[in-house]
Amino acid sequence: MAAVAVGKVRVMWNPDTYRDTDYGLEDGEHFEPDLEEMEAVTTDQPHIMTLLGPIAPEELGICLPHVHLMHELPEEYGFDAQLTDQDAAEAEVEAFVSMNGRSLVECSTADTGRMIAPLLEIAGWVPAHLIGVAGRSADIFASRMPNSLDRGALAEEFLADLSVGMDGTTARAGVLKVGTSADGITEAEGTTVDAVADVHRQTGVPVTSHTESTRVALEMLARMEKWGVAPSRVIVGHVDLDERPLEEHLEIARTDAYLQFDQIGKSDVYTDQQRAERVVELIEAGYRDQILLSLDYGQRSLMTGYDGSPGLSYLSEWFMVLLMEAGLDGMTIRNLVIDNPARALTIHPTNR
Ligand SMILES: [Zn+2]
Repeated sequence: MAAVAVGKVRVMWNPDTYRDTDYGLEDGEHFEPDLEEMEAVTTDQPHIMTLLGPIAPEELGICLPHVHLMHELPEEYGFDAQLTDQDAAEAEVEAFVSMNGRSLVECSTADTGRMIAPLLEIAGWVPAHLIGVAGRSADIFASRMPNSLDRGALAEEFLADLSVGMDGTTARAGVLKVGTSADGITEAEGTTVDAVADVHRQTGVPVTSHTESTRVALEMLARMEKWGVAPSRVIVGHVDLDERPLEEHLEIARTDAYLQFDQIGKSDVYTDQQRAERVVELIEAGYRDQILLSLDYGQRSLMTGYDGSPGLSYLSEWFMVLLMEAGLDGMTIRNLVIDNPARALTIHPTNR
């Protein structure tokens, strides 16, 4: 495969050339987890839960807190939306690691065809931390599932994902997810929000979200807070889904929630220069510690591993340059891509 050029982005990584090297590993050798290293962190201390077990928050490194590597969606979403190729997903992770990436939160949930078993294998072979999520996506997916209006049953399912393992594996989820629609919180979405709040109170596991409008995002935060979830433990996802006035982003920021710019690289919606400039404006307004950056690519055509572009290395390869051009220094970028995700993803055990 030649380097893929789409728009102005030239992707340097060629998975066909490099992925077979496996970083010099022999059969039976793994980068993670190192058992001695694993003993260093236990789940009764602040930690981040990866598919391979808990890590110290300082181990997270450059992190994309909202990605998709593998999922199987209903057929009507078409072939491009089916991220079902384990080799392609592994190649994508390797491309990310080659650009100094270290950690990825795979945000596919059970209702969007989460595929934990192959990801667990990849996690053992590529020097990256993979993190899975429990919960549901927006109503179009969530309402198709059994128990979608049963708060207790959902809470039980999410708790099992966090404490036993997901999809019949031993891989425990590290984040809880809720989804909301553009016009309001539907009944199924509201049931998930309530169940996730119940589980958060018991476990201290942070919450990530699919949101499509500022107004509904604020409603979701208020509803969670009513059930005892501090907005500072919630990531508001997709705040750059469309071009929004600064005031809308400030409204979310004032709640103490994280604002996640995760449509980076999808420049047809909103240019990355505009995203970078908005990030700078929010930092100037005092909200540096609440900004998260990610690449929410749910299609083969957006991932180099699946022969698309720009792929998950785009953040380090290009968007960080745009941030520098917009006026940020290296240490501030470090805050955005390392320190903020580490704080957002840390599980603070509740000692119950
Ligand atoms: Zn997503």
